[in-house]
Amino acid sequence: MPRDLLSVRDLTTRFFTQEGQVNAVEKVSFDVEEGEVLGIVGESGSGKSVTALSLVDLVEDPGRIVDGEINYRNSELAESASENAPDAVDGDFVDVRKLPERHRRALRGPDFATIFQDPASSLNPSLPVGEQIAEAVEVQRRASANPRSTRSRTQSYGLGKFLLGTALPGQGYLTEESKARAIELLELVGIPDPAERAEALPHEYSGGMLQRAMIAQALAGEPELLIADEPTTALDVTIQAQILDILGDIQEETGMTILLITHNLGVIARMCDRVGVMYAGEIVERGSLEDVFDNPVHPYTQGLLGSIPDLESAGGRLQPIEGNVPSLLDQEMEDRCYFADRCPNAMEECLEKPPEFPGPGSPDHAAKCYLADHPYEPEQALPEDYFDDESSDTTVGRDDGKDDASGEGVSADD
Ligand code: SF4
Repeated sequence: MPRDLLSVRDLTTRFFTQEGQVNAVEKVSFDVEEGEVLGIVGESGSGKSVTALSLVDLVEDPGRIVDGEINYRNSELAESASENAPDAVDGDFVDVRKLPERHRRALRGPDFATIFQDPASSLNPSLPVGEQIAEAVEVQRRASANPRSTRSRTQSYGLGKFLLGTALPGQGYLTEESKARAIELLELVGIPDPAERAEALPHEYSGGMLQRAMIAQALAGEPELLIADEPTTALDVTIQAQILDILGDIQEETGMTILLITHNLGVIARMCDRVGVMYAGEIVERGSLEDVFDNPVHPYTQGLLGSIPDLESAGGRLQPIEGNVPSLLDQEMEDRCYFADRCPNAMEECLEKPPEFPGPGSPDHAAKCYLADHPYEPEQALPEDYFDDESSDTTVGRDDGKDDASGEGVSADD
């Protein structure tokens, strides 16, 4: 029986902006089983990326995780945390939100690694790519040598230590061993001439090579959980396929657990075992790949599937989902199904927030929609123009699907 590696419960992350409170992630719960690929899919602005940032404690001001648990199974960590943070421990699980900040930070790399969606801005432009990967290797090497020390995992590297290591070989942070491992990792992700490329700066890499370098850096810590946030978004389709192949091969060889975040259902179908569909900060449907692709219950999931081009009926019109993602500003969020103003099946009862109902598929299948509980009832249908006034008033934060959570370019999703 696969065991859960991560169990997230009621995770709630908000941004406190000048316009008001933005409910970017609202009571999100999911489990990630050891060795599986779990996909989170949804439109821009649905809260996928903020969920990922919350897991690795990288939500920046004015954002804050305000509630929920992030339970991570790690018996060693549980043992050491039982001394200094006993409230965080439950058997082999540790609620990482209850750990001291430096311990949470120490989890990044050896436990949770992230591939971000924009590799060009995630790498330091002034350091050779190989050095940056070697740094991650070195952090893991020091952490393995002294597993109870958080300092070895959180010591910072940077230009100063790079220059020290260059001027005085043997005195810097990096070792020949970690540099050699960085070259091996670059080779693993398919970078040609890896030893030579390790010396190059990020701007000398193409977009596809940068994404490979990011994957190499994420793998350097041999993480328990790899969080891949839109890992192929900015790439052309050929390179996208290569990157997904690399991730698939690595997952097959190492059995690594992956949380894959994407707006692309094709990527989900290709890579994932189970999937959660996000809308307006909530997971509205979850289940196995078969549950969600073959028996979708939530009209939003059905809409996403209906908007995929079908090669077998080429020439047919795609079915777009009408309307925009709703504002996530607290004062503009009605206490009802957030999809109701776009839903072709909206009924009177949908004006009350639906709980999660079991779906018709596997025991894991569930949806936050009354249609999972009973069939559509036409006599209950809301008039077509029911939401017209409301939608014309709702403008802040729904700018073409991107939620500017901070008012300063921070998006709820990207
Ligand atoms: Fe549509 Fe109602 Fe289901 Fe919401 S709860 S998705 S409005 S049928």
